[in-house]
Amino acid sequence: MTDSDPIQQAKDLHQAPLLFDLHADTFYRIENQGGTFEITDGTGHIDLPRLCDLGCVATTQAVYTPKDLPGAAGTSHALTLTARILTAVTRNDSIHLIRHSSDLDRDGIGLLLHLEGVSPLEGDLDRLHLLSEIGFRSIGLTHNHANEAAGGCSDQSSTRGLTPFGRELLTAMETLGIALDVAHLGDAALEDVFDLATRPFYTSHTGLRSRCDVPRNLSDTALDEIVGSGGIIAIDFVPEHLTGENIASVEDIFIQIDQVVDRHGPQFVAIGSDFDGYHSPTTGMEGIQDIPNLTARMYAAGYPESAIRQILGDNATKFFRTLLPEPHPLS
Ligand SMILES: [Zn+2]
Repeated sequence: MTDSDPIQQAKDLHQAPLLFDLHADTFYRIENQGGTFEITDGTGHIDLPRLCDLGCVATTQAVYTPKDLPGAAGTSHALTLTARILTAVTRNDSIHLIRHSSDLDRDGIGLLLHLEGVSPLEGDLDRLHLLSEIGFRSIGLTHNHANEAAGGCSDQSSTRGLTPFGRELLTAMETLGIALDVAHLGDAALEDVFDLATRPFYTSHTGLRSRCDVPRNLSDTALDEIVGSGGIIAIDFVPEHLTGENIASVEDIFIQIDQVVDRHGPQFVAIGSDFDGYHSPTTGMEGIQDIPNLTARMYAAGYPESAIRQILGDNATKFFRTLLPEPHPLS
């Protein structure tokens, strides 16, 4: 084995914390399918021991509300999931919540709270301020279907863009320093975001429509708009977004990353695995412990270490550093 062996290079690189994974549904998976965050028990893609073993800088954990839980039932579900996440943070010294830009510099694993679909707000803007106080720092307006704020990607036949409430939310999020995630938005809503947004926005987990033409993936035009805003594009590991089939491989993840690198450069690409949010197998990526397989693939393609660092974590950290609020000075 030589220094230029990609597998060894990947192992060496992961000796120090590096990964900032921009999207996972670990607590939703545990709540609905079982498992324990603090123990590696053979379930799911992520748990705390595996996050620690790999050496993660941060994990974004989503609070996702299914479509079949409208209104107050969905709000209650979202609060329960949030409580589970915050309890895990309180219970484990190795994790801290990322609330302010200074939290990005702390040792240990940062956990960034993300709301996936704003149905728990039930159209009430005041609840956004409550979410901000709790520590949510990223919000996607919809999941796949339309809600009070916008049209989702499964409603592409509809021309529903941002509703008046969605527009108010976007503006308030920019003021509060909450990142706008455009994953899952419908095309008409995306157009409205491109017109209205004044701050950088991003996609936390996506595939490329030019490689795999499904409504959930983003078009080249949308990717250009994200980059133009100063945002980042996080590629996910979901087979249906990578190949359009229910199976994919590390190679398919790399192909999509490489395409964005080709078009925009490595400074706009990131990782948003969607771990614990899908069930189809991605060969060579059975869970977060397999990230070094992707790292090795990037080395094998001749990516410089600086670019690999950007893609695996530095771009995500830099993006949130520009958006997150500073802590209030002590009075
Ligand atoms: Zn999602």
